[in-house]
Amino acid sequence: MRLPQPRPEVLDIAAYVPGESAAPGSNRVIKLSSNEGAFGPPPSAVAAAVRASADLQRYPDGGSTELRRAIGARYHLDPARIVCGTGSDELIQHLASVYGGPGTDVLTTMHAFSMYQIAGTYAGSRVLKVPERELCADVDLLLAAVTPATRIVFLANPNNPTGTFVVPSEVARLRGGLPEDVLLVLDGAYAEYIDRPDYDAGVAMVDATGNTVMLRTFSKAWGLGGARVGWMYAPPAIVDAIGRVRGAFNVALPAQAAAVAALAEPGWIERSRDHNLRAREQLVDGLRELGLTVYPSEANFVLADFGTADRARETFAGLKARGIILRMTAGYDLPHCLRITVGLDDEVAAVLDALREHLHG
Ligand SMILES: *Cc1c(COP(=O)(O)O)cnc(C)c1O
Repeated sequence: MRLPQPRPEVLDIAAYVPGESAAPGSNRVIKLSSNEGAFGPPPSAVAAAVRASADLQRYPDGGSTELRRAIGARYHLDPARIVCGTGSDELIQHLASVYGGPGTDVLTTMHAFSMYQIAGTYAGSRVLKVPERELCADVDLLLAAVTPATRIVFLANPNNPTGTFVVPSEVARLRGGLPEDVLLVLDGAYAEYIDRPDYDAGVAMVDATGNTVMLRTFSKAWGLGGARVGWMYAPPAIVDAIGRVRGAFNVALPAQAAAVAALAEPGWIERSRDHNLRAREQLVDGLRELGLTVYPSEANFVLADFGTADRARETFAGLKARGIILRMTAGYDLPHCLRITVGLDDEVAAVLDALREHLHG
């Protein structure tokens, strides 16, 4: 009997490994493994999701109309150029399949967010992981990797899991050097945390070109990872193409309601950003005092270098035994590192105490 066979490239995909969430034996678990916003979900978003759940027999608005209007109002964007997705992960998948496919190349970088590789390979593209410089995407190396087969470049800025950031002038140089038929996907999953006057997650570039897309998510600073809501801002032709293939009712009813309410929560992002800047500095200083190398991060996490894969693994296990869950990064070709989400002040203190105990007895 010959059983159904997946396309061969599917078996080349290593399934996404989420951050762990359980630490058996600990009564209080501090989860710093998935870059979830430190403050949890906005209370008004939880209330809105509960209210919306009274109508769970109804399909949601397939066009996420009210949510797109609210996003447009908040970020001064035309709602007609916004597409919502079941997390930005869904949009990454569709962009890869719609603009890539067999015979094409998709470019990403050595330590980039792993969904790009999964989505590109699934689409049938060859995914090239272009080398980085000091764990940061490098425009010259990316441009040197472009061939006539290149169709998409995925750039998370800042990148996960490294936290490193490509300055806006370099992003502009990348777009300027790419052929016009290459789609540049700027993934601003951590945009809300960035506090730089020169930063733009991609809006200006989307407006100025017909071949650039900006991705955003409610999963990080907005505290709604469990709701699964992401969105993209794109030129009309790309909005049209993705609209043909996305899930018809992709964003669930309570998720749409939660995201709309979150956008109306006064000061949420400002408070999250202020806390993150301060707590991240405390975390970085503390890690450096422990003798660890920490990469500069613009996001709500940091990547710490433990020197060897063994030491990183032992540290992960040691902290897990103390109820603190970090993120292993071996799947990102960084087996000697661990990624640590910036939590609340007492969580930052707890992770530093636990590391001190583990590393220095
Ligand atoms: C977390 C993250 C996402 C968000 O994914 P969702 O599907 O919206 O939860 C996208 N890109 C990067 C780089 C991320 O770190």
